[in-house]
Amino acid sequence: MDIYFYNTLTKKKEKFIPIDSKEVKIYSCGPTVYKDATIGNMRTNIFQDILRRTLEYNGYKVKQAMNLTDVGHLVSDGDEGEDKMIKSAKEEHKTPQEIAEHYTKAFFEDLKALNIEMPEIICKATDHIQDMINYVQKLMEKGYAYETSTAIYFDVSKLDKYPVLSNLDVEKQKAGARVKVDPEKRNPYDFALWIKAPANHIMKWDSPWGPSYPGWHIECSAMGQKYLGEQFDIHTGGIDLIPTHHENEIAQSKGMCGKIPARYWMHGEYLLINGGKMSKSLGNVYLIKDIVERGYSPLVYRLFTYTSHYRNKLNFTWEAIESTAKSYKRLKSGYQAHLNGSEQIEESIIDDYAQRFNSAINDDLNMPLAMSVVWEIIRSEKKSPKFAELLLKFDTVMGLKINEENEEQAEEIPEEILKLVEERKVARENKNWQESDRLRDLINEKGYEIKDTPEGAKINKK
Ligand code: AMP
Ligand code: ZN
Repeated sequence: MDIYFYNTLTKKKEKFIPIDSKEVKIYSCGPTVYKDATIGNMRTNIFQDILRRTLEYNGYKVKQAMNLTDVGHLVSDGDEGEDKMIKSAKEEHKTPQEIAEHYTKAFFEDLKALNIEMPEIICKATDHIQDMINYVQKLMEKGYAYETSTAIYFDVSKLDKYPVLSNLDVEKQKAGARVKVDPEKRNPYDFALWIKAPANHIMKWDSPWGPSYPGWHIECSAMGQKYLGEQFDIHTGGIDLIPTHHENEIAQSKGMCGKIPARYWMHGEYLLINGGKMSKSLGNVYLIKDIVERGYSPLVYRLFTYTSHYRNKLNFTWEAIESTAKSYKRLKSGYQAHLNGSEQIEESIIDDYAQRFNSAINDDLNMPLAMSVVWEIIRSEKKSPKFAELLLKFDTVMGLKINEENEEQAEEIPEEILKLVEERKVARENKNWQESDRLRDLINEKGYEIKDTPEGAKINKK
């Protein structure tokens, strides 16, 4: 069956034709490992997982590479500000390596909890410094890069076209309206490939340009080419990566080999919280462990993300999670009911459902539509193991472990207790251990027990 994907590059839904008819190569921009991944970040990771599972469902082998950014991602996309890793290391009184290790481990735990398949290749920026230096040197030789007193810049004016992916208005930018323009830059949109390190900079490497460190975009071009070749099938990420990071990756590749590195560019939309942005200042940054803390399986969150197409915004509320938890229970018990059923079902009915599910996922990963087929089967009056078998096949895409026993679903935890748990979380974040202990005792007095586990705190009635 044909597969169609919306391609950000052409702004059209296109038939997917892989370069190799058997194996699809995907590069996914991974996390900057300086803080915990949020449920927003994980929405993007679930979308990427659905992509690979859909390809596998259609019989393809997948080779997916994902980078871990552990150097060079500056606080501002405009090559300014501190390196996020160094900033976090200072704040947490650790080394950047310790920070990277800690948050990489936490990220992998989230992937596992959400039943996200591991990419075949996970590559760390700091393990590829020489590959990146080679890449920058080639760009210099080819005349696409130049050295200033502070950095090696990519010269976007050498390209036939820039931008190609986004709607950046280069002409407007030339007028210098928005960004302070580095006087040594030839063009306002030129970006840093390599950055010269000030004497007190803690992450730096010897290079032909002295002690220095990579820019953020070069790592994905260097590692993408190393592991997947000059051109691969699909490049993925969140929509925020389109105008700078992905635009600049394309620029680098075009400079290097005259090719856009991927044929299809797919981007996931944002998760909103109560209709707005997730932000520290609003106190609404949620992690997977917060979902667990409230007594829900991480797979409830996974199911929740299927209520919206990946290219649409999705609004997170605790009410929606509560209602999805009920749906998840129904899904699992519905599967069991079919498994224990004994009705005869005609093959043509099974085929029709299978066809409809497959065409939904193949239509640019339309999970809301695919789920409507699943719910029809769950609701069917006729209970049959044939339906259970079909649902299990669909679950290779849904990744919801529908055949696993219902975990002990937490009883309703009263709002009052949840509030105390939330306050304790804030206290712990602020390293206010005294307050955290006081809240734990208070929770205890009210008849609930809080246990800190690797997946987050869990609350039980005593
Ligand atoms: P950040 O943690 O902001 O560096 O984001 C890492 C990546 O996760 C971004 O590049 C986005 O692609 C994705 N992301 C961040 N916030 C959200 C969100 N609220 N919803 C969906 N994806 C997000
Ligand atoms: Zn990237």
